[in-house]
Amino acid sequence: MSERPDNTTPHEAAARGPLLLSTWSFGERANAAAWPDFSAGGSALDAVEAVTVFCDEDPGIDSVGYGGLPDRDGDMSLDGCVMLSPEQCGSVCAVRKHLHPVRIARLVMDRTPHVMLAGEGADEFASAHGLPEQPLLSPEAKKAWQVRQAQGGGDSSDVRPVDGDPDGALFKDQEDRWRNNHDTIGVLGLDDQGRLAGACSTSGMPWKVPGRVGDSPIIGHGLYVDPHGGAAVATGTGELVMAICGSFLAVEQMRSGAMPQDAIREVLERIASRSDLQANHQVALIAIRPDGHWSSGALRPGFRLAFSDGSGHHTMDPAFVQLPGT
Ligand code: ASP
Repeated sequence: MSERPDNTTPHEAAARGPLLLSTWSFGERANAAAWPDFSAGGSALDAVEAVTVFCDEDPGIDSVGYGGLPDRDGDMSLDGCVMLSPEQCGSVCAVRKHLHPVRIARLVMDRTPHVMLAGEGADEFASAHGLPEQPLLSPEAKKAWQVRQAQGGGDSSDVRPVDGDPDGALFKDQEDRWRNNHDTIGVLGLDDQGRLAGACSTSGMPWKVPGRVGDSPIIGHGLYVDPHGGAAVATGTGELVMAICGSFLAVEQMRSGAMPQDAIREVLERIASRSDLQANHQVALIAIRPDGHWSSGALRPGFRLAFSDGSGHHTMDPAFVQLPGT
């Protein structure tokens, strides 16, 4: 991990592409993997897909793709989406046999008149387009599920997403890490031709009720991109984001002239004002305008993001935390 030397962030400063913004500190190594092609003139769409594919494949990232934590019954299902504009978006959810939901979502976007495929249909579509079936549950993730079972099992209602920094410093021990895992790679890209793209890939909340789908694969909830307004991506407790169309709301604010930080604040204020907010609830967003102004914010402490531009790859805290000290 590299911090910006002076500990400042470029939040709210306009930046020209190429630029990648990813949720959580593991986004830094994924951004770095996608960077050579992206900085050589690659499209934002290819770059955001590459970032998610990297995370899906890395078993050390225990919240996305292979290595992600399973549902309450020990089974894996993956969700993801990709978006260029309201006319160009694709999504899949409850995928059980294929590792890269964003790759399938891109095929849905490019090769069908639809936006979203679910479950068996999504897996069949992926196979029909030549994507290989792969195991999704890693031995480590299975062990984590077994430990949880031994402790009585249960669903994700006690999970609070916290950044899983590589040295694990934010966790008391491995069980604490599994409990407070985070779950989505959300990435926004602005390329050197000024094109915006976004993608999300997730194994969903750990220990979720089987069949549960969160915000991440749903256009307008976990991700929204409008070339005239900007792009926003969310992570955290998906149910809170889904209740207010969080990413769409952020982009609509920017479309009306708001700076990214104010747009995110509006979203988080609505969530923070809920009467049923639980201590384990967390939501964080990253947003960028077409002119390159970008920002990020989180409901509670514990979120970090990865920022990459010509200066390198940086992990940083969000510009603000809505409920500090909670
Ligand atoms: N938003 C994801 C979900 O609810 C989880 C996460 O981003 O941590 O499935």
